[in-house]
Amino acid sequence: MQQYNQFFIDGKFVQPQGTQVLELVSPITDEPMAQVTLGNQADLDIAVVAAKKAFATFHFSTPKQRQEILKRWLDALKQRRQDLIDAVVEEYGGVAMYAPFSIDTGIDDVQTMIDLLDTYEFSRPLGRSTVELNPVGVVGVVIPWNASNLFICSKVSAAIAAGCTCVIKPSELSARQTQVMMECLEQAQLPAGLVNIVNGDGAVIGNGITQHPDISKITFTGSTNVGKTIARGAVDTMKRVTLELGGKSPNIILDDADLEQVIPQAIGAAFMNNGQACIAATRLLVPASKLAQVNAIAKEFVEKYQLSGDPHDPRVTVGPSVSKAQYQRVQEYIRIGLEEDKAELLVGGLGRPEGLTRGNFNRPTIFTNVDNKMRIAQEEIFGPVLCIIPYQDEAQAIAIANDTPYGLMAYVSSASRERALQVAKYIESGQVKINDPFNHDNKVPFGGVKLSGLGREYGQFGLSHYLEPKSIVG
Ligand code: NAD
Repeated sequence: MQQYNQFFIDGKFVQPQGTQVLELVSPITDEPMAQVTLGNQADLDIAVVAAKKAFATFHFSTPKQRQEILKRWLDALKQRRQDLIDAVVEEYGGVAMYAPFSIDTGIDDVQTMIDLLDTYEFSRPLGRSTVELNPVGVVGVVIPWNASNLFICSKVSAAIAAGCTCVIKPSELSARQTQVMMECLEQAQLPAGLVNIVNGDGAVIGNGITQHPDISKITFTGSTNVGKTIARGAVDTMKRVTLELGGKSPNIILDDADLEQVIPQAIGAAFMNNGQACIAATRLLVPASKLAQVNAIAKEFVEKYQLSGDPHDPRVTVGPSVSKAQYQRVQEYIRIGLEEDKAELLVGGLGRPEGLTRGNFNRPTIFTNVDNKMRIAQEEIFGPVLCIIPYQDEAQAIAIANDTPYGLMAYVSSASRERALQVAKYIESGQVKINDPFNHDNKVPFGGVKLSGLGREYGQFGLSHYLEPKSIVG
């Protein structure tokens, strides 16, 4: 069985102080696949000392020097691209068609920061004074498993571009992805202590980062509940906090949209990454007059093309849930949907897809004629479960779109871009994608409103969250 029993601290692989070992089980086969050693407070303290020492000099680095460092990391990531993709497929069952997108997006994020350093002004005259934008300090990075290396690329490239140093705590479920990333960091020969990685439990290492007096900022991606715990815990040390949290994204189909084109796209956007995406378009809002037509297209598309199974198979579009606990959670929500009397099951349902007797495979499931007040329409499921919700007119569509505690991503489709833009204006979310749910732009800010989070990532807006303005007057 694969052993993951090293951390990356101060520029080298080190043996953990912690002795607790977690067994990881394959989501595809249910077989034990790896053991990961979890760190303790001593491991975290060693990593923070290294990051703090590195910051003392890195603080004074020039944008050009940071660019050179990022380029070395970028080269290593490109060389190990296939290993990074393989880890996504094996470890949490990311499907072969999605895994490259996740890794390439992360690589592109690093490139974007390199390019931004050509022009970014870290010192800005303002009237008779100057505003210096200084690195915030040591940054704690706490992330989930569902796109682990993408999150490391986007957060850490921004931190390095700003002149910060980092201590990363990935999810305990992404040990293989983390191992390849640590090897990339070693290969890139970054300055010692610039980027440190400690595996461990959320309650130990994640909480330790939140409380640590020598960490100035925490950037977190994960569930809203843990995000709230982190925000509360960060107050004592007045840490800067960026929180990328959960979502229940609406996808509004306007009445002039070409349903044969947009409904299959909408299903792809709902089930992306096996439904385990914060931006998954899990509420499909359609004109009530077109509900029957939408249902027919959706049912046929799922039955023909949404194959659930072994993610190695290139035809498969929906792989397993990451863990047994997550599988059971998805099953529980399907049960709730069946029990709530208002919705109709269009396709899918409880249990595994036909022919699959092991692994965490859910049936791609669609409920239609859903009332937006139902739990399956309000709560984040994080599995392949889509709600089709009818609306009477545009005003009602916007009201339904905004009627959840979340506000991360939204989608609008229309034959008229102008009409879609008008609707987009009134949606409460950090980002709205028009007409193509897979259109990705990593230069514009990404993040949530309401319970979806705090702060923004990507491009110059993301970089600004790793900088502290200091005004020089006189
Ligand atoms: P999670 O919140 O359970 O875990 C995320 C990370 O937090 C893990 O590393 C975990 O070990 C750590 N953690 C757990 N308890 C902690 C504590 N008390 N203090 C500090 N850290 C702690 O999330 P998950 O189940 O791994 O991931 C799924 C969630 O992430 C979903 O809600 C999803 O929407 C969200 N997510 C958001 C985005 C975004 O960009 N907004 C992207 C991906 C995932």
